Amino acid sequence: MEYHESIEQSAEFLRRALPLMSKQSAALNPVSYAVWYEYVAGINPALKARVDDLTRNDQRLDQQTTHDLFRKHIAEIDEELAQRVSAGFQKVMADMSQSAAAAGDQAGQFGSALERWSADLDNSNPDLAATAGMSALLRHTQDMQRSIGTLKSSLDESQREIEQLRQEVSRARQDALIDGLTGLTNRKGFDVALEGCLSDAEPGSRPSLLITDIDHFKRVNDTYGHVFGDKVIRSIAQILKHGVKGKDTAARYGGEEFVILLPDTPLEGARSLAEQIRATVEKCRIKRSDNNEALASITVSVGVARHRSGESLSDFVARADGALYASKNRGRNCVTVAEQAPA
Ligand code: GH3
Ligand code: MG
Ligand code: MG
Repeated sequence: MEYHESIEQSAEFLRRALPLMSKQSAALNPVSYAVWYEYVAGINPALKARVDDLTRNDQRLDQQTTHDLFRKHIAEIDEELAQRVSAGFQKVMADMSQSAAAAGDQAGQFGSALERWSADLDNSNPDLAATAGMSALLRHTQDMQRSIGTLKSSLDESQREIEQLRQEVSRARQDALIDGLTGLTNRKGFDVALEGCLSDAEPGSRPSLLITDIDHFKRVNDTYGHVFGDKVIRSIAQILKHGVKGKDTAARYGGEEFVILLPDTPLEGARSLAEQIRATVEKCRIKRSDNNEALASITVSVGVARHRSGESLSDFVARADGALYASKNRGRNCVTVAEQAPA
């Protein structure tokens, strides 16, 4: 869902959403704010109908139901928007907390002034000071100070919760770019890195790309089983991880395929890294965990390409992939460098 409301309109929605939100038992966090914002804005009819249904007979929405509503009716909002909603909401909470603190201070000052005044009266006019009205005034002021204090601490607590949520969103976003089996960047993370690398490139700097595929991996799985196959994938991922540094990105591109992105490395440097990785894999003997038996050598084939100026991302990847294919055709366990000049 995209929001196009003006600041005045959205402020009006905020004003209407807050009392509805605070009536529920769910925490006052950005998720519940998104639900109630869309509810009062009238921009999400399905959500509105469901909320009306759920809150019939003064039922209150709890945390789980609110999260479910969010997931079902709003979750397709993009991450950047969610971040903006969260940041905007945090600002509103901070402003409110500040206002509450200011109101608390004023109530405190007013209370002290009343106390001083009542002490003066005590001395000059004990009868008036002792009236019921005077002590009620003092009591109400103290009550007001207390409830403002409570409001402030609950706003502070909500702000802490929002900050925690924000950190969770940012962690979840990071996790979404990591491959679970190997801990390397995943395909999506690689796509982000490649795009970033081409759009942020200094003039004249061009990335190189290595694509690595395990040779006859199907046989490894068929002979030793998938668990061992997974161990091989993790071991090769470690070799790649050790081969890169700084701004380089090693990623698991798919099943038994890996890529290394070198943001500004000439072809010769990329080829030599590819050769070093190929030789390291060939030398290493991965053991089976159950009987420690060392297995026949695992090998990889590699394709290398350097970005040509003006080349599209997919053409660049396809050229490295073509070089990998050539390595397979040449008998595997070797490195092929793609043509640099346009064909
Ligand atoms: P080639 O040398 O031509 O690359 O032959 P290959 O056998 O490696 O290639 P193929 O594409 O035929 O087989 C790849 C195999 O990788 C098939 C698939 O079951 C296996 N594979 C893909 N992902 C995983 C995984 O996460 N774990 C395990 N154990 N195997 C996987
Ligand atoms: Mg493959
Ligand atoms: Mg393979």
